[in-house]
Amino acid sequence: MAATAAAAGAAEYVDTHCHVDEVLTQLGMAPPYDEVVADREAVWGKGCCGVVAQFCDPAAFSPSFGVYPELLKLDGVYGAFGLHPHHARHWSEPLASRIMEALAHPRAVALGEIGLDYKQMRSTKEEQLACFRAQLEIALGLERALPVVLHCAKAEADMLAMLLEVVPAARRADLVVHLHCFTGTGAQAKAFLEAFPRLFIGVTGFVTFGSGAALRAGLSSGDIPLGRLLLETDGPHMTPEAPEDGGGTDTGARGRGRGDGGRGGRRGGGRGGGRRRGRGGRKPNTPQSIPAIAAAVAALVGAAKEDVLRQTRENARTVYGV
Ligand SMILES: [Zn+2]
Repeated sequence: MAATAAAAGAAEYVDTHCHVDEVLTQLGMAPPYDEVVADREAVWGKGCCGVVAQFCDPAAFSPSFGVYPELLKLDGVYGAFGLHPHHARHWSEPLASRIMEALAHPRAVALGEIGLDYKQMRSTKEEQLACFRAQLEIALGLERALPVVLHCAKAEADMLAMLLEVVPAARRADLVVHLHCFTGTGAQAKAFLEAFPRLFIGVTGFVTFGSGAALRAGLSSGDIPLGRLLLETDGPHMTPEAPEDGGGTDTGARGRGRGDGGRGGRRGGGRGGGRRRGRGGRKPNTPQSIPAIAAAVAALVGAAKEDVLRQTRENARTVYGV
């Protein structure tokens, strides 16, 4: 059984990008998140040793409205703060100060997600570019250097151009970047990887989507090497489409890792059983999907799933220090 392999202790992982507040809300949980405190494995999955939570809308990093102070009390939960390009039109000095305040939290490990989204274009291109530039400048000026989490949707050329324009050549070798939920081609990935030696490519369940062919080709060609890869769920979004029984994906461990049958049935029974459904009846993607994403990557790069998990866990430590 896959559950036995996980129990053997090999499959430790970090979900390096997850909208934890949304995930827990969709699972029907609220501060102080007693369910997570009581049994974090049942919620995050067996083997999950960390989750980097994203707080990237104006409400999320307001201490008065947001839940981040509560979430960052949870064992293994770390935070990234920044204004998502969708909300770029709200960019302002007071907002910048709130982000800076949040970044001072001892569990804050990154600035992000920031960037460009030309797919949905919820803010204009000009608003997005201005907001992206301003936050990159903040990142470069931070006293305590933090990695930058980038969101890029159909904007690869503009994003690379902005990075090269704003980040001075002397800083490119030390700026740590997580280009999250990469959906581009191997050639595009290579351009980013070559320009920024400490940039890592984030792979989500998108790697299993019908529209993910270019990314799959980039992985199998070696353009995106394992040493520069991070695994992330982007939960509650991007649920992998891998067959639940395929590839030894550890789905058997979901929610019943501790043999606590009743509770597992409630929270993580898996396979269309009692797992809680999110809005619209669809279950949210959670950190429990990381082993399935690792399995998909392993098949593409011709490595064992355990090796993919081991290497990406190490990469997560390099990037986030967790
Ligand atoms: Zn995200």
